[in-house]
Amino acid sequence: MVPRMPPQEARLGYIYSAPFRIQGVSVAGEQAVVHVPELDLVFDIGLCPRPVLASPTVALSHTHMDHVAGLPYWFSQRAFQKMPGTARCLVHPKMVEPVRRMMASWIDLERQHTPHEIVPIEPDSEYQLRPNMFVRAIEVSHTTPALAFVVIERRSKLRDEFRGVSQDRLRELRGQGVEITKTIEIPLVAYTGDTEIGDFLFRDEFRNAQVVITECTFFEEEHRDRAKVGKHIHVEDLRPLLEAWTARDIIIGHVSRRTLIPFARERIEAIAGPERSQHVHLLMDHRSNRVRYENQVAAFENVAGNSKVQNSPTNAGGFFDSLSDCPASSLEITAEHLEKDL
Ligand SMILES: [Zn+2]
Ligand SMILES: [Zn+2]
Repeated sequence: MVPRMPPQEARLGYIYSAPFRIQGVSVAGEQAVVHVPELDLVFDIGLCPRPVLASPTVALSHTHMDHVAGLPYWFSQRAFQKMPGTARCLVHPKMVEPVRRMMASWIDLERQHTPHEIVPIEPDSEYQLRPNMFVRAIEVSHTTPALAFVVIERRSKLRDEFRGVSQDRLRELRGQGVEITKTIEIPLVAYTGDTEIGDFLFRDEFRNAQVVITECTFFEEEHRDRAKVGKHIHVEDLRPLLEAWTARDIIIGHVSRRTLIPFARERIEAIAGPERSQHVHLLMDHRSNRVRYENQVAAFENVAGNSKVQNSPTNAGGFFDSLSDCPASSLEITAEHLEKDL
């Protein structure tokens, strides 16, 4: 008898929530990496699929193996592939030293100087991604020091009292030194990392984020204690969170391998209701996500003048204005590329 071929490597989950591609692998205790090419950012790096090499910043939620194992490989592989510049990993200040020691060991092991930067990010502080875009760290509660992250865009907006005032008059006022604009914050994408439920997940950044990527490790009623001990989210915790979060898409990862996808979907529908659950996706539910993606492609092609999917997503709400400085390398990686890569 000829033995069976080995199983295929884990495919990347893929959800398109315009203008963001959310792509990665997330299975509790095994691997977690979530890449958003449009932000040029990677949340966690428990493994390093090829497309992730294109982005130069990892926001590390915490240092459990399923979230950090791919980090030295990512730094080293970026050097091997001659990616420009020094990549960086944003880390909870309490874990900076052990992560630096790990990298120092890898440099000794490989006998090469791998360019890398381990950047401490204090809770409630920000790291600038682009001139008008920042990633903010939020302290959460897990069995190690842990951070959630929210990417925030800052836009300047005309103050209410100047609405309807002519352009000439506005120019004049500005010339006189009058503050005619105010800065508003738009939370784009929020990522919980591993955490138990807590007030931090009800902060405005999470409530108002356009997309929330959340862990939900346990789905069975009898696993509520396990969720508590491991400081993870249980599906019952999603009930108040789904009410609070106004995101157009909520993406669930870090589901344990034991949980079957149809069962998880059933529980989500029971909790969120038929309407809201349309906007709640399981990152690793490849079948449903493919159907959703094919529908998005069909809807796009139905629009007059569009004959094929573009390499980069369509503009939405003017956001792409601020993507003009996004490196082409990451925008070029499309769903089709992913299929080929894996
Ligand atoms: Zn984990
Ligand atoms: Zn963990």
